[in-house]
Amino acid sequence: MQESLPLNVGFFTKSCVVLVCLGGVHLIVALFFYLTESPTKFTNYRKIQSDSNIFASLTQRAAALVIQYDNGTEIDINKLIYNGSVIIKDDVAEGTAVLQSCPETSPLLVGPLRVEFSEPISLDMVRKDNPHLVMGGRYKPSNCVALQKVAIIIPFRNRDEHLKYWLYYLHHILQRQQLDYGVYVIQQDGEETFNRAKLLNVGYVEALKEYDYDCFIFSDVDIIPMDDRNTYMCSSQPRHLSVSMDKFGFKLPYKQYFGGVSAMSKQQFQKINGFPNNYWGWGGEDDDIFNRLVFRGMKISRPSGDIGKCRMIRHSRDKKNEPNPQRFKRIAHTRQTMKTDGVKSLSYKVVVLQKDLLYTKITVDIGKP
Ligand code: BGC
Repeated sequence: MQESLPLNVGFFTKSCVVLVCLGGVHLIVALFFYLTESPTKFTNYRKIQSDSNIFASLTQRAAALVIQYDNGTEIDINKLIYNGSVIIKDDVAEGTAVLQSCPETSPLLVGPLRVEFSEPISLDMVRKDNPHLVMGGRYKPSNCVALQKVAIIIPFRNRDEHLKYWLYYLHHILQRQQLDYGVYVIQQDGEETFNRAKLLNVGYVEALKEYDYDCFIFSDVDIIPMDDRNTYMCSSQPRHLSVSMDKFGFKLPYKQYFGGVSAMSKQQFQKINGFPNNYWGWGGEDDDIFNRLVFRGMKISRPSGDIGKCRMIRHSRDKKNEPNPQRFKRIAHTRQTMKTDGVKSLSYKVVVLQKDLLYTKITVDIGKP
C-alpha cells in the first residue's frame, strides 16, 4: 500500500504549479507586446516625417550618419530607425544632425546656359522663384554640408536693372552649385567718384561680421556666367572666373587681366592686405590686385575658356566713374603701397543696412578722393 504524502509537501507542489503558470502567462504577455510593437511604444520619441527634406536624406544615407548631442556624444542614426521612418528621441532631435559633405562636383549642374537680357525682370518674380532663400540672400543645401561658405560681394551704385538680372540668374546657379552662400550688395553713398576696390574691402569686412565665410567672390553686377560648371568657389590659388567674356570676344583681353569676377579665400585675401583703397574712378584696381597676388607668391587659377564663358550687360559709362588718369602711376607702385594701403587701413561708415530676401544691401560712406 502506497504511503500518503505529508500535507505540507502537497501544498508545496501546488504552489510550484501556480508559480510556473504565472510565469507562463507573463511570458505570453511579454511576447505579445514584443511581437506587436507599434510606434505608440515610443512614447518618449518623436517620429520625424520622412517626407521632410532633411530627414528623408538622413534615411537615405543612414549608413554613415550620426546624430550629435550638444555635449559631443554621437549616436548612430541606424539605431533610431524604425519601420523606414526616422524615430528620434526628443532630446536627440534638439541636437544637430551631422550630414555628409556635398560632393566635389554637384550632381545638380546642367552645363551651358542661355543668358539673355531682353525680358524685363521683377524682383517679386525672382523672390517667388527662390522659395529656399533665407532673408539677406542666404542659402545652404538641406541635404549635405556645403564644401565652402561663400560671400558674394557686389560693388554697386545706380544699377538696379542689372542687379535684377544678376539675382535672377545667379541664385539658381549658386543653389545648383550646392554652396552655403550670402549675397552682399555694397552701395556707395553720395555722388562722389566711384571706388570699386574700396567697396569690395567693405564687403569683405561686413560679410565676416555676419558669418564665418571662408571664400569671397568679388563680382561686378553686370556679369553673368554662361555655364554653371564655373563654380563660384575658392581654390588653393586665387581664381579668376570671368575669363571668357562676350565683350572681349570670349577671350582674355590680356594675360594679367583679373577684372570682372574673382574668387579668393580669407587667407589669400589677408595675405595681400586686401584691395587698394585709393583707386577712384574706372580702371587699374584689378591690375593692382593682380600685382599684389603675384608679389605674395600666388598664381592665378582659371577655368577653361569654354566653361568660363560669360555675358556682360551692355551699358553706357556711369557718371562719376570716368577713367582714372592716375591708374598707370599707381599700378607701377603696388609693391610699396600694398603694405600700407589695404583692408588694414580701411575706414568707412555704414549708412543703411537693408535685408531683402534676395540680398543684403549695405550703403556706405567711403569718403572721397
Ligand atoms: C584696366 C582694367 C580693366 C581692363 C579691361 C585695363 O586697362 O586697367 O581695370 O579691367 O583694362 O577693361
